[in-house]
Amino acid sequence: MGRTAGTRSYMITASPQARITSTSRDDWRQLWRDAITDPLELLNLLGLQGLADTLPANDAGFALRVPRGFVARMRHGDPSDPLLLQVLPQLAECNETPGFSRDAVGDLDAREAQGLLHKYHGRALLIASGSCAINCRYCFRRHFPYGEEMAAAGQWRQALDHLRDDPSISELILSGGDPLALATAKLEDLTRGLQALPHVSRLRIHTRLPVVLPERVDSALQHWLGALPLQKVVVLHANHANEFDADVDAACRRLRAAGVTLLNQSVLLRGVNDNVATLAALSERMFAAGVLPYYLHQLDRVQGAAHFEVSDTVALALSEALRAQLPGYLVPKLVREVGGDASKRPL
Ligand SMILES: *Cc1c(COP(=O)(O)O)cnc(C)c1O
Ligand code: SF4
Repeated sequence: MGRTAGTRSYMITASPQARITSTSRDDWRQLWRDAITDPLELLNLLGLQGLADTLPANDAGFALRVPRGFVARMRHGDPSDPLLLQVLPQLAECNETPGFSRDAVGDLDAREAQGLLHKYHGRALLIASGSCAINCRYCFRRHFPYGEEMAAAGQWRQALDHLRDDPSISELILSGGDPLALATAKLEDLTRGLQALPHVSRLRIHTRLPVVLPERVDSALQHWLGALPLQKVVVLHANHANEFDADVDAACRRLRAAGVTLLNQSVLLRGVNDNVATLAALSERMFAAGVLPYYLHQLDRVQGAAHFEVSDTVALALSEALRAQLPGYLVPKLVREVGGDASKRPL
């Protein structure tokens, strides 16, 4: 198998490392604010000043944002680093590509109440926060009008009313943006409302924060989840084994200790994880952290992300090769989201 995760010799060493971890590690909000937003600072930290000429004007309309702890997992001096490619603005994002749109998954059609999307039987998805600690270049969020849709604290009444009126809904999914961007006290408010609805038995959280800012899984979050009398699922989002390190392992341990089932969804991304060794290493590495693979998504066809696309033919071949190499439980389901479908669509 190819490169394995967390290979320490790849970590940034000496002074850049010291700068990256100089902030107090306990206060996730401080770490959030301290994220890198200037592409030149990112390139300097990684010894890649030479790439400055390849940056698009105005970050191609979608700001760079990446926590320093995530940058510390990138390889110094490697312009093809799979973590760097997920966050660095590229000129290719400015190409208008036919077939790529701004609302690629039909979210704007599925809205039932403020911030609540009800597309699939039994599950409703609440856009609990419009913020993310990291801006992933391939994300449909670069165009979704979250400013209008975001269900801010205190505006959950409408969503909770909708859930109360529909006893077929047994699972509430918190998504975004990143729902763990909310203060734990606000999450507690929301789940207090939820506990009054006996037909809702599961809470699912779609979040990238335990991976990109593992300090977010602090004791307050762990206590909230641990005390919650619902079945709890956290679906992480990691695309490459190098995204895991000891801090992410610790965050996963704390979540499991709070009674959470841990799953992961990835996006198949050209240049990042579009080969069998990389996908196998990802599955093995996440399982070592107590996380099972759930979905491997074909890219949502959003304008600005076309250069990440992997063809269905290649995606299917990768999936088949992965099945030949790994135990079945380490093979994610290869799916695409198609607006109007009753579920994610298997390839
Ligand atoms: C993806 C998604 C879900 C969850 O689908 P699962 O197949 O259960 O993971 C639910 N609601 C919406 C709107 C979604 O986009
Ligand atoms: S919603 Fe998820 S994929 Fe999109 S920018 Fe935020 S963390 Fe990245």
